[in-house]
Amino acid sequence: MKFCSLYSGSSGNSLFISNNNSKLLIDAGLSGVRIQSALKVIEENPNEISGILVTHEHSDHIHGLGVLSRRFDIPIYANEDTWDAMIGDLGKIAPHNVKTFDFDHALVVEDFEIKAFKTSHDAVASAGFCINSGKKSLGIATDSGIITAEMMESLSGCDLVVLESNHDPSMLEAGRYPFYLKQRIKSDFGHLSNEIAGNMALALVKAGTEQLVLAHLSQENNYPLLAYETTARILTGAGVILKKDVILTVAKRSGVSEIIEL
Ligand SMILES: [Zn+2]
Ligand SMILES: [Zn+2]
Repeated sequence: MKFCSLYSGSSGNSLFISNNNSKLLIDAGLSGVRIQSALKVIEENPNEISGILVTHEHSDHIHGLGVLSRRFDIPIYANEDTWDAMIGDLGKIAPHNVKTFDFDHALVVEDFEIKAFKTSHDAVASAGFCINSGKKSLGIATDSGIITAEMMESLSGCDLVVLESNHDPSMLEAGRYPFYLKQRIKSDFGHLSNEIAGNMALALVKAGTEQLVLAHLSQENNYPLLAYETTARILTGAGVILKKDVILTVAKRSGVSEIIEL
C-alpha cells in the first residue's frame, strides 16, 4: 500500500492511496488542475483513480470534486447526508458516479475494504476512514473537535494514521480570528489541537501504529515544527523512541508530501 498527502490543511485537502492497481483519493478540496498537477508530481494518472472518498461537505474537501469526477469519469463515494449537503456545489455528476457508503457497513472498492466512522465536526455527517488492503491498514481522522470513543476504536491498530493536528491553542487565542471563529475551532465540533493530537498519537502508538502523519494544520494558528514538536514531546516523554517505535511526519499544507510505502 502506498500513501501520499497531496495537500493537507485548512485551505485544501486531498490524499492519495494505492494498493496494487487500485487507486483512491480521499477528498478533492482544491481545484481539479492543482490536484492533477500534484498527481503528476508523484507520477500518477488521474484516469486511473478508482474513486474519491469524501469526508464531509466543507469546501476545503470538495472544491475540485465535481470537476475531477466529470473530467476523468471518477466515482464519488459519500454518505447520503453529505451528498444532500454538497450536491448543489458540485455541478452535474453522472448518475453512475454517485456512490454511497454508510457507517454500518464496510465499503469495498477494488482492492480496498473501507470502514467509515463518525467524526465530531460541524458538518452534516462528517466521516473518517479505516482503509484496509488485506495486509496493511490506514486510518484517516481529520476535522474533528474531539476524539470520540468510536474514533479511537476505529483507528486502534491501524499501521498508518493520518491525524489532525490543527492548531496551537495559545496561537489561536492570541491570533486575529474573530471571536465566533475561535469558538468554532476549539468547540467539540471544530478541530483537534496539537496537544490532543499528541495524546491521541501516544494511545495509537501503544495500540501498534507505526507511522503517524500529522495533518490539516491551520495556516494561521500553527507551524509544522510546532505540531511536530508537540506530539514528539508527548511521545518521547512516555518513553516512545521516534524512528524506531514510530515514524512521525507532518503533511505539507500546500504541496505533495513524501510517499509512504506500507
Ligand atoms: Zn471541515
Ligand atoms: Zn477541513
